[in-house]
Amino acid sequence: MADSKRYDSIVIGTGQAGPSLAARLAGAGMSVAVIERKRFGGTCVNNGCIPTKTLVASAYAASLARRAADYGVRIAGPITVDMKAVKARKDAIVRRSNEGVENWLKNMNNCTVYEGHARFEGPRAVRVNGELLESERIFLNVGGRAFVPPMPGLDQVSFLTNANVMDVDFLPEHLIVIGGGYIGLEFAQMYRRFGSRVTVVEKGTQLMGREDDDVTATVREILEKDGVEFRLQAECMAVEKRGAGVAVRLDCGTGDREVTGTHLLVAVGRGPNTDDLGLEAVGIATDSRGFIQVDDQLRTSAPGVWALGDCNGKGAFTHTSYNDYEIVAANLLDNDPRRVSDRIPTYALFIDPPLGRAGMTEAEVRKSGKKALIGKRPMTRVSRAVEKGETQGFMKILVDAETRRILGAAILGVGGDEVVHSILDVMYADAPYTVIQRAVHIHPTVTELVPTMLGEMKPLA
Ligand SMILES: Cc1cc2nc3c(=O)[nH]c(=O)nc-3n(C[C@H](O)[C@H](O)[C@H](O)COP(=O)(O)OP(=O)(O)OC[C@H]3O[C@@H](n4cnc5c(N)ncnc54)[C@H](O)[C@@H]3O)c2cc1C
Repeated sequence: MADSKRYDSIVIGTGQAGPSLAARLAGAGMSVAVIERKRFGGTCVNNGCIPTKTLVASAYAASLARRAADYGVRIAGPITVDMKAVKARKDAIVRRSNEGVENWLKNMNNCTVYEGHARFEGPRAVRVNGELLESERIFLNVGGRAFVPPMPGLDQVSFLTNANVMDVDFLPEHLIVIGGGYIGLEFAQMYRRFGSRVTVVEKGTQLMGREDDDVTATVREILEKDGVEFRLQAECMAVEKRGAGVAVRLDCGTGDREVTGTHLLVAVGRGPNTDDLGLEAVGIATDSRGFIQVDDQLRTSAPGVWALGDCNGKGAFTHTSYNDYEIVAANLLDNDPRRVSDRIPTYALFIDPPLGRAGMTEAEVRKSGKKALIGKRPMTRVSRAVEKGETQGFMKILVDAETRRILGAAILGVGGDEVVHSILDVMYADAPYTVIQRAVHIHPTVTELVPTMLGEMKPLA
């Protein structure tokens, strides 16, 4: 096309896949255009993993300070949280990553950065800030945003999502969190520990619907111990302004028909940023929720277009997005046919104590009909947890009784987000669980009890 600029590759979005892919492609000598419409680094850097885990750390410090006497440590006076300082610490850590990505891309050889919204104009053409860019290879790393449900009254009240909650530098008196999923629960515990009253309203019968019952029940116990209140099975939700605050109307069968608070956080899931990309102009297929359909090597239905990260619906995590980059780079540049289906599901819930998960849940194992063994150990029987005074939770592992391969694990307890990797790596090695049993682990650690748990496994009834 006349007046268009040609590049060997175009990357749209600077989430967890785009920048690394741009670096590999540019390093291989290709000219690369990178387009970002908002903040460099995307969700994880600016309003996802990095800020939330930074805030979780402040909340942990507040909680530990309140429990100081349990350890024989005296703190004179009440523990208070300076929300402006909490936010300033979070902003400084976010800024470092955000600027790091921006500077990296802007100083990259063979790479041209465009700041603006990209939209397809033809099969191999994208328009940004009025300029037309063309390429034989286009990589979409456009990510997602908070899903706002069509809930009656929501358009009449002001509410928070994971994005604007990052601007909060005050203590909400009573925060209502709609959504008992991973994001909602992290914010719930964090704000409770900062000092807010917190009520989680969830329409399902349990929190984190995809987890096993024993996991969700224990997560609830942990959060209730912190003082978080729950309203589950909240049918027919509607919200309305109530004085300076907000009321969430619900019909849960039991209890009050309404929860009133001062602030509302909506955390009911995420949707892909694919509605304003002009995908229809190129015939790129999406599913009913807008996620771009891809094959096992992340190719879309349009030749020369790949989709990586949250927008393809194959993962919703930083590590899955980064792995998408590795898969595409390996296939394009290394003649290495890596695939999405090589990936073992793994993630964490970063409440305190955290939940580290790998592979199948117990419910999934039961449903599969596999003959399996199960081992479970409460954290009260883990010496390191006792010494640290952090004995909430348990760990659980499931093994295929015939192949002796580990099928899945849930480590809900102190260090659970780290410990789970010792199990995950053995799963990737495709080695029998007995390898872990024969390994000598460091004492005293949480990981040292994994072999003990394996030795006590019983058939899954
Ligand atoms: C509160 C919260 C906590 C989280 N915590 C964790 C965690 O602890 N661990 C974890 O693994 N994951 C976590 N996640 C998920 C994680 O943030 C995402 O999975 C991760 O950021 C991967 O996103 P991505 O690479 O797909 O794209 P994103 O990071 O969403 O980036 C997409 C980028 O594309 C840009 N863009 C979109 N459309 C266009 C367009 N048309 N033109 C130009 N640019 C465009 C956007 O501005 C954005 O910068 C969390 C998410 C949230 C919301």
